Amino acid sequence: MPQESIRNFCIIAHIDAGKSTLADRFLELTKTVPEEKMKPQYLDQMSLERERGITIKLQPVTMNYTLNAKPYTLNLIDTPGHVDFSYEVSRSLAAVEGVVLLVDAGQGIQAQTLSNLYLAQEQNLAIIPVINKIDLPNVDLAKRKKELADLLKINQEEIILTSAKNGQGVNQVLESVVKKIPAPKGKAGAPLRALIFDSFFDEYQGAIAYVRIVDGRLMSEDKIQLIAATKTIKVQNVGIFGPELKPTPELATGQIGYIATGMKDIESCRVGDTITIFSDQLAMIKPLSGYQEVKPMVFAGLYSQDGAGEKLRNGLMKLKLNDASLALEPEYSPVLGSGFRAGFLGLLHLDIVSQRLKREYNLNLTITVPSVAYKVILKEGGEIMVKSPQDLPDPTKIEAIWEPWMKVDIITPDTYMGSVMELVKKRKGRLKSSEYLGKRLILHIEMPLALLLIDFYDKLKSVSSGYASMSYDFCDWRPTRVIKLDILVAGELVPALSSIVYEDSVYPRARQMAVKLKQTIPRQLFEVKIQASVGGKIVAAERIPPMRKDVTAKLYGGDVTRKMKLLKKQKKGKKKMRDRGKVRIPPEAYLAVLKR
Ligand code: GDP
Ligand code: MG
Repeated sequence: MPQESIRNFCIIAHIDAGKSTLADRFLELTKTVPEEKMKPQYLDQMSLERERGITIKLQPVTMNYTLNAKPYTLNLIDTPGHVDFSYEVSRSLAAVEGVVLLVDAGQGIQAQTLSNLYLAQEQNLAIIPVINKIDLPNVDLAKRKKELADLLKINQEEIILTSAKNGQGVNQVLESVVKKIPAPKGKAGAPLRALIFDSFFDEYQGAIAYVRIVDGRLMSEDKIQLIAATKTIKVQNVGIFGPELKPTPELATGQIGYIATGMKDIESCRVGDTITIFSDQLAMIKPLSGYQEVKPMVFAGLYSQDGAGEKLRNGLMKLKLNDASLALEPEYSPVLGSGFRAGFLGLLHLDIVSQRLKREYNLNLTITVPSVAYKVILKEGGEIMVKSPQDLPDPTKIEAIWEPWMKVDIITPDTYMGSVMELVKKRKGRLKSSEYLGKRLILHIEMPLALLLIDFYDKLKSVSSGYASMSYDFCDWRPTRVIKLDILVAGELVPALSSIVYEDSVYPRARQMAVKLKQTIPRQLFEVKIQASVGGKIVAAERIPPMRKDVTAKLYGGDVTRKMKLLKKQKKGKKKMRDRGKVRIPPEAYLAVLKR
């Protein structure tokens, strides 16, 4: 396929705008997927994506399309819309020349639509504006069109109206992709430069790199160099996404495809690296600019429950290959053994990672209570970054503690302004400015990350009847007053349950945790005390009453002495158990204490 017949594009939008459903219609229209194999949100290939109904991973697919009797190759990348997966979006944008910007007709422009649009504009990508879900009853299309036209400073006639549900307008989008998105510009005759934008580990073929061929071309069995990793390998095979891997003889300039590298050494296949053909001219090749490092927002310890440290390491490394936003540092806990301090982009990300480790790598995890990072200024001079409650120095050694604040953009109908702001204030948030977007408001807010992370989004949805949306980004570090809250179960400190909390909310937080643990730890044969403590002082306590097994059930009649004897024996057994008694804390308990 000649280079001028290739079009590379992403669909971007807020979560649930219909990106994956629109992609379905493209797959049907271009006959990329046979009718009998088609299923809703076809590109959501992970079982977790299908169950949750959300896109987690970027997913490329190559489609053949004919316009005015001329064949084209369309490379589409479907992207997630949730803010926790925005790194997937930014990496996808670096591989394409244009985007389809989708707005939900029922919801209008949402916060993540805006932040993804800004990303696309920064990269000077062509933008095809689309309003989707026009089949919904009671949508005010005139209003939606004006809003979007004003935002993009375009004529309303340029906006395409679609229903990804019934197929209306979908062909027009593909026509527009061909007409408005420029063909890739790379130099076909130049030495190969390919950008790795994603990867995964295949048991048989090793690391598989998702690439955009910027210059030159690549064939199976070529000898290639990964420039940053300084690694030379022979390519096993190359191909395109159908969306499953489909081998092709070569990948030409401008194409999006994959390289099966055969590498078992996972760490060498890094997103952002440039691949070129191995030669004695390597020094002459200018690497592509790659990606900004991700900024993990929230940290938690990950430990294998079965003490399978090596299996955990292996699983995490393979998962990291497929999740470039996951940050990992080895960590050791005297109680939990060898594990990792992992950095995530948010709590949904943490949840997805732990689910994937369980499903894909058969790992049962203990996840410590998640925490944001704190900057601690020491009295003796210097500062340290604390990512785990365990690492918080003794209060006498601390000069000051700083916590991360975020810039939060909330879009809401103005009628909900009051209740949204009430929620924002409860979370120590401050309104910096606001502006109108049609009849709705964009609120520019600053808020501590620690208070944003935990169910703020759910609360925002509920106070706005589902209409408000948000996106956020790091703002700066600010002074705060926090201390370490410890939890003791049956008299024993459980380090994984320690957390860093605001001084002014220690008591309610301690109570809440004690109650939550009481609900999630199963009853034992003996009474279990749950205590929350700060610096050795108990600030809240709960008791889980013992389970009483009816040891006398098998007795007939009224043989009292026999009954007494059995009960006495049970009591003695219980005492023995209590003395040795270790309470196993179910994994759900660690995450449950987070929910409010
Ligand atoms: P994504 O998060 O942007 O990928 O959105 P999905 O494609 O997963 O769709 C989210 C929900 O919106 C699903 O329940 C779809 O069935 C629904 N949906 C998508 N497009 C349309 C449409 O044009 N009309 C209607 N009524 N529903 C749609
Ligand atoms: Mg999707």
